[in-house]
Amino acid sequence: MAMPWIAGFMMKAPVNKIIPFSNVDGPGNRCAIFFQSCPFACLYCHNPETIHMCHNCGACVATCPTKALHMEEEKVIWDPSLCVNCDTCIHRCAHHASPKIRDMSADELAAEVKKHRLFIRGVTLSGGECMNQAPFLEELVPKLKEMGLHILIDSNGFYEFSKAPYLLSLCDGVMLDVKAVDPIFHQQLCAHSNDTVLHNLDYLLEQGKLEEVRTVLLPHHEEQNKKTIAYVVKHIDNRCRYKLIAYRPYGVRAEGIQAFGNASLTKEQLKEYAQYAQELGCHSIHIV
Ligand code: SF4
Ligand code: SF4
Repeated sequence: MAMPWIAGFMMKAPVNKIIPFSNVDGPGNRCAIFFQSCPFACLYCHNPETIHMCHNCGACVATCPTKALHMEEEKVIWDPSLCVNCDTCIHRCAHHASPKIRDMSADELAAEVKKHRLFIRGVTLSGGECMNQAPFLEELVPKLKEMGLHILIDSNGFYEFSKAPYLLSLCDGVMLDVKAVDPIFHQQLCAHSNDTVLHNLDYLLEQGKLEEVRTVLLPHHEEQNKKTIAYVVKHIDNRCRYKLIAYRPYGVRAEGIQAFGNASLTKEQLKEYAQYAQELGCHSIHIV
């Protein structure tokens, strides 16, 4: 796990990217902050370069066409002013990492968000897995709330939210991934158990902090897809939104393509899954 670190008295966290205006990361127009590193390694991950921290092997440095990367004291240094975001370095990295990471303090991030304050309703804390940075978020979120922003955590559910009551009290809600309910399938899919995810589902419902549950529906896995939908619909009992997301091969690494192929679900298949959820009693379904 990549923990936030302290330089002097200032905690910093690794930021992969900031999207100033997003309308796909929660309700309304939002700024989305993507923190680097994730304890899962989902086969269908669209941004596998967010999984691990760079370990400064240097293999990507020479591939940069604009010399935006160099080594200094055995660390890879990225110069954003020279970078043209061609992602050649990311494609070269065999470790699911990125050299384009900024270690930022809560003040620096809040200042970045403030630039866009007039045009956004809220901020979504995402990743990677933003809960890898839970202590840092406790410092950041009050600064964002001071601006009157609606704050959502986007999480894969690996971190026990019952251990972060203060952070949870600061935030408006959590958008939780329930990738698979079957424990063996979840382990194969994400290289991690789903015990904590399912515990979090119940805990966040009890706390009134579950904004949305999301499940990616996979081609050729109808039984698993339906098993997860049935479990989620029963547990949420219409207390939050349920988003059903079609698997898309874009950005997925070779192992994922090998497992799930190059094609997405059809619109008809997605609608059939939504209808299945409705028949089980779910009234608030979004399909994307
Ligand atoms: S991003 Fe990957 S290839 Fe580049 S230095 Fe880091 S670990 Fe090595
Ligand atoms: S994304 Fe930026 S740092 Fe990476 S290879 Fe391209 S120009 Fe260089």
